Amino acid sequence: MENRTKIHFYINISEHKYIPSFVNMAAKKSSKTAFKKIAMERIDILFKNAEYEFVYNPELSNRYVNIARKIAMRQRIRIPSEYKRKFCRNCNSYAVPGENMSVRIHRGKVIYKCGRCGYIRRFPINKRR
Ligand SMILES: [Zn+2]
Repeated sequence: MENRTKIHFYINISEHKYIPSFVNMAAKKSSKTAFKKIAMERIDILFKNAEYEFVYNPELSNRYVNIARKIAMRQRIRIPSEYKRKFCRNCNSYAVPGENMSVRIHRGKVIYKCGRCGYIRRFPINKRR
């Protein structure tokens, strides 16, 4: 029994669960936005670190992207638009145009192709707002 609770605690830590189970529902609701704000800050830091680390250790920046996406998923927030095109959605690698990602234009769309797994994403050039 004691061993089981220990394992559960470890999983919570590893998956970036910010809300401890002992917090009641009312407190949970009011702190929800605060947790989202913290998550956004962490995502920002992780992508900045990924950008910095890419020259020295690309695998580490892939790891940062992976963590940032996990945080975003858990807190149900979007990856900021400035980082949206800087990673591969398929293999979670940090993508730099001309290094590990090819960028080309075809039929009014910008096409990003991951050099690691070949995953393709298309974005329209003229997006009407
Ligand atoms: Zn990929």
